[in-house]
Amino acid sequence: MISMARDSSFRNIEYGTYLCKKKRLIYPDIICEGSGESISIVGHADGNFVGRFHTHPHTSFAQSVHDHMGMLEELVQNTHHVECVYGYKDDAIQCVEYRCTPDERRFILKYLPVVKNEDNFKVKFLQLLQKLTVKTRVYTIKELQLVVRS
Ligand SMILES: [Zn+2]
Repeated sequence: MISMARDSSFRNIEYGTYLCKKKRLIYPDIICEGSGESISIVGHADGNFVGRFHTHPHTSFAQSVHDHMGMLEELVQNTHHVECVYGYKDDAIQCVEYRCTPDERRFILKYLPVVKNEDNFKVKFLQLLQKLTVKTRVYTIKELQLVVRS
């Protein structure tokens, strides 16, 4: 993840991958390259994936509306999802853990397909996003490098 963050800033393109888990180890799956603006992450190994990671090569780690919508599509399939984003401006990775109840899942399935634009999304989903959030953690690249070395 650190080298993806580095390469992404250097080459000015987005990188992304699904994150998989085996025993206690979380590792990236197939690594996809996007353009400078956006990325679609496709394909992951069966069963054991826990979330996604992608990079923002020139902005912060704040998730875009596009990111949120993609996250919700994953969340309704698994009711649990971790979305990690590297932000160039922060030089850090933010990981947000989400969980949804059956009611929230129904709400998302009903309204997500009819979202027309960003404002429309915010009106419908901004409050819900806060309720779905279990935990937010920020890891700076500096501290991650220390962990890797030790
Ligand atoms: Zn993004």
